[in-house]
Amino acid sequence: MLKVGVFGVGHLGKFHLNNWKLIPEVELVGFFDPNNDHAKEVEATYGLKRYMDEDALIAACDIIDVVTPTHLHFPVCETAIKMGKHVFVEKPMANTIEEGKAIMNMVKEANVKLQVGHVERFNPAYTALKNITINPLFIEVHRLAQFNPRGTEVSVIFDLMIHDIDIILSIVKSTVKNISASGVAVLTDTPDIANVRIEFHNGCVANLTSSRISMKKMRKIRLFQKDAYIGIDFLEKNTEIIKLKKPDEEDAFSFDIETHQGTKTISITNPVIEDGNAILAELKSFVHAIIHDEPTVVNEIDGFLAMEVAHQILEKISKSTSSINQGN
Ligand code: NAD
Repeated sequence: MLKVGVFGVGHLGKFHLNNWKLIPEVELVGFFDPNNDHAKEVEATYGLKRYMDEDALIAACDIIDVVTPTHLHFPVCETAIKMGKHVFVEKPMANTIEEGKAIMNMVKEANVKLQVGHVERFNPAYTALKNITINPLFIEVHRLAQFNPRGTEVSVIFDLMIHDIDIILSIVKSTVKNISASGVAVLTDTPDIANVRIEFHNGCVANLTSSRISMKKMRKIRLFQKDAYIGIDFLEKNTEIIKLKKPDEEDAFSFDIETHQGTKTISITNPVIEDGNAILAELKSFVHAIIHDEPTVVNEIDGFLAMEVAHQILEKISKSTSSINQGN
């Protein structure tokens, strides 16, 4: 049995508790949270021991689950890793580039496993594509949410867009060449809405829009590649592949269109989406990596690369905002 301790039992921490309870290979040992109301609720609902001493909880566990506000990810990760514990840390992995680099070094030195909570990697609408060749040339992303004060201690880039940054970096087999970005702080003092263009060295371009001040929710990625379009709806959990039909393809729905290059047959398929709970899947996958000594699906390097791009985006936004303010 792997012993788990949870740091932070707020909104997401409680979802984590529910899901840890569903994994037979782990035992929940206790939690640490300075908020007495949250702590009392968890003690009453889950019968879980509240630790008042952070080090004592870490010492009693094999896995530390970090679900604190973002600026506290680093200190908890640092203590846990230095005590030789495996760490699951929510996204974004840390607040600053220096913290991210330090986490990567500490994980290597302590030879522990770390996974970052980029949960969309486990969304059934995305995992349905595991047998499909993805090599996009153009990517269009929309992640829109209604305003919620929770999470607004960081910008929309770290709050929402980082999910898509991670997915895109995992899909595009290339490195970032250039980033342009603009964003506006409408309701908070950091950008609440942003549009970003990421150009990759292989020619792929990703255009991302994230907003936390929208009336409607949307979480869609559209991928365009040679001969195919792939649409992933992370919210509605469906996936669509529209492509030029191959002569030996039978099952797909298809229709003809006339082009200057002759008649083309287009097929539309919707891969089967398994019923799935992405948080349970990510935690299970972490436990599997520890037990079988395999790499984690979203490791500290992935967590760092997503943070690094997010920081570059914020720098671009702050430069474009200051040049507008100076009337340039
Ligand atoms: P929240 O404010 O609801 O909960 C945070 C909890 O951490 C609170 O109970 C707070 O009292 C507690 N806390 C504060 N200081 C602490 C400390 N030193 N040690 C332990 N606990 C402490 O926030 P949330 O929405 O649950 O978000 C928590 C983290 O999860 C954030 O990093 C956020 O980015 C991330 N998150 C990820 C997703 C996702 O889709 N993967 C979704 C929501 C939030």
